[in-house]
Amino acid sequence: KLPIVAIIGRPNVGKSTLVNRLAGQQSAIVHDEPGVTRDRTYLPAYWGDREYLVVDTGGLVFNDETEFLPLIRQQASLALKEASAAIFVVDGQLGLTSADEEIAEWLRQQTVPVLLAVNKCESPEQGLVQAAEFWQLGLGEPFAVSGIHGNGTGELLDELINHL
Ligand code: GDP
Ligand code: MG
Repeated sequence: KLPIVAIIGRPNVGKSTLVNRLAGQQSAIVHDEPGVTRDRTYLPAYWGDREYLVVDTGGLVFNDETEFLPLIRQQASLALKEASAAIFVVDGQLGLTSADEEIAEWLRQQTVPVLLAVNKCESPEQGLVQAAEFWQLGLGEPFAVSGIHGNGTGELLDELINHL
């Protein structure tokens, strides 16, 4: 049975793009606007000789933060039940938001290991700066990555497979 890695985070942070990057195929739906509803899909992904399934948990999104937070938690709870690890994705260009803090607080109470991916960091130098503020989420080292360009994902995956 392959280990499952759940991708969690607010709408529009780049979860689906990262899933596509990890799975190496354009299977997750990427949309410019929040609000695209989709089923949970499990995509096979590899890192070295390790295989796992990556699942995008962002199926239900709303524009009103007070509405979408409980729904993200609900979706994420279901995914975390069966997951060996989770990747919490945040937006490094937008910076830390209160929604990120709320999701992080909830994630810290879960037993599954959580890795923090600070996405949209196309420049490695700027990425270090963009990622720094996310240390305060209390989820350990923030990994600066770009789902679009792929930089930083190697370091993230090296750490991920330690938890699978
Ligand atoms: P999701 O709602 O979290 O699944 O986010 P999506 O993957 O659908 O992406 C939301 C928006 O962010 C789209 O316009 C993407 O093109 C953009 N995006 C995703 N990843 C990156 C990235 O690494 N860098 C930049 N600059 N934009 C990104
Ligand atoms: Mg998505």
